[in-house]
Amino acid sequence: MKFFAYKKDAVLQSSRGKREIPIVSLLFFVMLSFLFAVTGSSATDEFKLKRQEMIESDIRGRGVSDRRVIDAMSKIERHLFVDKVFMKRAYADHPLPIGEDQTISQPYVVALMTEALKLKPTDRVLEIGTGSGYQAAVLAEIASEVYTIEIRKKLAGKSETLLKKLGYKNIEVKHADGYYGWEEHAPFDAIIVTASANHIPPPLIKQLKEGGRLIIPLGSTVYFQTLTLATKKMGELEIEQMGGVAFVPMTGEVTKRKK
Ligand code: SAH
Repeated sequence: MKFFAYKKDAVLQSSRGKREIPIVSLLFFVMLSFLFAVTGSSATDEFKLKRQEMIESDIRGRGVSDRRVIDAMSKIERHLFVDKVFMKRAYADHPLPIGEDQTISQPYVVALMTEALKLKPTDRVLEIGTGSGYQAAVLAEIASEVYTIEIRKKLAGKSETLLKKLGYKNIEVKHADGYYGWEEHAPFDAIIVTASANHIPPPLIKQLKEGGRLIIPLGSTVYFQTLTLATKKMGELEIEQMGGVAFVPMTGEVTKRKK
């Protein structure tokens, strides 16, 4: 709409200054601007509609009921977290490429993992595997502080820029190996690992608060993993298995150590 107003203004001014511009050209420019404004807003409506459909069929429809998760995912423009060529598929029921051979997780998996963390508005959360930054944005809508680590420099930079542009002041992105967590901001109320590993990195267990929850796709990093929820009780982890998932592997230190 802004674009429309600006264009119209510019044309009117020049037509005032240079009387020889024919009225037909003026009308043509006005119509063109109007067309831009109309197609622009209908694309926005189309994404909004797709987002509502995603919430109804893939999130609520599959049993996710946490109001805060639903509100966050209804609000966040997921299509902004993928490349232009994938925008139209951003709300579909599957992961999508985000470059560097990595993926943005399927919406349902994002919802399921976030709900399992049972976040409170005052919580401080650590995410390992920033990727596109979408999961970090979902967390930031619910919790008060989000710290997210990405091992690939290009992805870390790209998502940091996007999250800033979108106005998230409660997210900090770091380019590093998430295996070691983020000691400076520990302990965390919740930790989410969005890449698969064959064991839970011990530094993450250490940086989890007593009573805190950690979720991670655990198992073979090549094929499928078990979404595993660990709750810290009296210093020990209570484990709950939540079903099969397929994540891209966690790289770095985790591959050198077996447990
Ligand atoms: N949460 C992301 C998707 C994660 S894809 C989103 O919402 O888009 C998994 C990400 O984990 C990839 O970007 C990958 O580069 C990153 N990753 C893999 N191993 C890592 C490690 N050791 N530390 C931090 N990030 C890692």
